[in-house]
Amino acid sequence: MARTAIISDIHANYHALSAVIEDVRDMRCTDLVCLGDVVGYNAYPSECLDYVQKLDCPVVKGNHDEEVVQPSQAKMNQAARLAMDWTRNQLDTPRLRWLARLQYQRIVRSDNGTTFTIVHSSLDHPKAWNYIINADDASANFPRQFTPICFHGHTHVPKIYVWNGKHASEDHENLHSLYLEGYTEFQPLPELKYFINVGSVGQPRDNDPRACYAIYDTDLNLIIIKRVEYDISAAQDAIRAAGLPTYLADRLSTGV
Ligand code: ZN
Repeated sequence: MARTAIISDIHANYHALSAVIEDVRDMRCTDLVCLGDVVGYNAYPSECLDYVQKLDCPVVKGNHDEEVVQPSQAKMNQAARLAMDWTRNQLDTPRLRWLARLQYQRIVRSDNGTTFTIVHSSLDHPKAWNYIINADDASANFPRQFTPICFHGHTHVPKIYVWNGKHASEDHENLHSLYLEGYTEFQPLPELKYFINVGSVGQPRDNDPRACYAIYDTDLNLIIIKRVEYDISAAQDAIRAAGLPTYLADRLSTGV
């Protein structure tokens, strides 16, 4: 059986991460990959980093993982910047080194030989950290995508983009059920390429505060995107206790 869980944008939210990993086990996933932004925003950067390290799975670098190691003048709102400075002080040298060594994109081979690609933002310029928010943005990714399926994160909003060889479009039907029921599953068609945003574990921004992740079952040719309840108020308490901006705690209740 080859059933991979795809998690992204954990952002130091240990409560969300541990709830998702429990769900991953309940869903009988055999493998796991992580699309980056392990740290930033929330109160448990070291704990989340250690947890992901122990999972010993393919991980790609996110912009927060990069920024914490190499401070730049990259555009970040004030709350994100304050959390970034706080996070940098929490992480010791071995942990910073682990983040620094992450690759920007990877091709992963599942147990039955199926390959797929993982990247944090987009394959056209993975180090530019472009936000893919519509099909027009996604169209730049597809010429660089050499596997039928690529998973990404970065916007914290789950989306499904498809490429028919000429242009990109959004799969609204599947997202409709995800937004309504918190669950969708579909079989990718062989004649299309898919660029799938798996949403965020630790700071969802699609008005659903539950953690989000995806599953790719390569035996059944099935993709699932689902939500997981977690202890939001415990994550919020930890943010406030750490002295991080309270806005970062507040937003977890509404998923914005
Ligand atoms: Zn992120």
